[in-house]
Amino acid sequence: MGLSLYNTLSRQLEPFSPLDPTSKHVRMYCCGPTIHDYAHIGNFRTFVLADFLRRYLEFRGYTTTHVMNITDVEDKIIRRVRETGATLRTYTAVYESAFLEDHRALNCLAPHHLPRATESIPGIVELIGRLEQRGIAYRAGDGSVYFSITKYCGCGHRYGQLFPVNLEEMRPGERVSSDEYAKESVADFALWKARVPEDGDVFWESPWGQGRPGWHIECSAMSMGLLGPSFDLHLGGEDLVFPHHEDEIAQSEGAGLQSAGQPFVKHWVHGAFLLVEGRKMSKSLGNYYTLRDLLARGFSGREIRYLLLTAHYRDSFNFTTEGLLGARTALERLDECARKLAEIAGPLATAEVAPQAALLDACTARLDEDLNVSAAWAEVFDWVRETNRKLATGTLGPEHAAEALAAWNTLSAVFGLRPPPGSEVPEAARRLADERDAARKAKDFKRSDALRAELLALGWTVEDTPKGWKLKPR
Ligand code: AMP
Ligand code: ZN
Repeated sequence: MGLSLYNTLSRQLEPFSPLDPTSKHVRMYCCGPTIHDYAHIGNFRTFVLADFLRRYLEFRGYTTTHVMNITDVEDKIIRRVRETGATLRTYTAVYESAFLEDHRALNCLAPHHLPRATESIPGIVELIGRLEQRGIAYRAGDGSVYFSITKYCGCGHRYGQLFPVNLEEMRPGERVSSDEYAKESVADFALWKARVPEDGDVFWESPWGQGRPGWHIECSAMSMGLLGPSFDLHLGGEDLVFPHHEDEIAQSEGAGLQSAGQPFVKHWVHGAFLLVEGRKMSKSLGNYYTLRDLLARGFSGREIRYLLLTAHYRDSFNFTTEGLLGARTALERLDECARKLAEIAGPLATAEVAPQAALLDACTARLDEDLNVSAAWAEVFDWVRETNRKLATGTLGPEHAAEALAAWNTLSAVFGLRPPPGSEVPEAARRLADERDAARKAKDFKRSDALRAELLALGWTVEDTPKGWKLKPR
């Protein structure tokens, strides 16, 4: 059996396969950040999901092309640019690099392509032009170009594929110009927004005059531009199902670039919200934590990533400090077990050995079921208990210890957990740290200071914790 994923399009669990069933290559797109501010860890729940799914697909033998766009022009950004008096690029550059830094701190692999909307304007204009030629886009009295839902449906397409919308309630010709709107206000939506004084210097030339793209068309143009008119997998947070993704389908299929019978996207995967006290973590509610907030409080990217990957991606879950502390304890338990295995494995710990199949098979079976991480973690902790029992009774030889360690290392790479801090510390530095510890305990502070300086010269700062020394790269 292979991987099954819940598909928002069919509203059921489906065996996963790329559009070309003979191919082992997956083309995937995840809607990226809107860089109007620092991203919060709710946003990162979605990006960590995309990274985890990519890693899991690669573990299951697929290659991937992973695209994540950068939304660097839309309504909220323009408002901020206006308020701060900055130029668009100087404003967004700050949040874009902060985002990428945070993305790396959570050990997310760099997507293969990171297109910026502002650098994709020709493709966007071309796509709108095509929709206009097909009679699906029209220019309204305000100079903006809108997508006509009635015309789209008239061409045999269905609006409401991801989300049931009541088109009866829609009044033909009614329009919505803002990028975000509720299902109650389903209406023709903006593809190209004519320049207004509030836009300041943010505009591009187009066949419809000066203006800027709507948010939805940005993703249709960037995804199809890089992955082709039909691709395998599209991800985002659950709030993007409607209208953003519904509109992406409408624009992309309305342009008719797909081969007969092919959809724009085969599998749609949506991650549930990260909550705070039962409510969506969001900027507008003010109940959010940025990664920076949490790093400043002493939590690591590794702990935060682990916590984000403990709940099933379709279940919303509450973010709490206790949860993070629990993640820390769980990781300590795992690291401790891995450390003991490495000790017994000795030189075999870094040798090429076949990973223990039992742990990998058990977790694969769980993760194949719509990425059931909670069941996979239960398997991991059963394995830890069993391994600790064998370690305590001395029944684990170096070879088996090395195989068990290799299995855990493989799995932790699938979850994208970096090796624990300090595990890469070279033997020489460890020895010095041990000697320094002994000197300190013997109250020979002169010697312990000298050893601290030696460690510093090797590039390590030493800290004393209740559990012993800790080395950090300088
Ligand atoms: P934005 O930068 O607002 O465009 O959002 C980036 C991504 O984060 C989108 O895929 C959103 O669906 C997702 N997102 C926003 N808030 C949350 C949340 N509280 N939990 C999980 N994902 C979220
Ligand atoms: Zn998008």
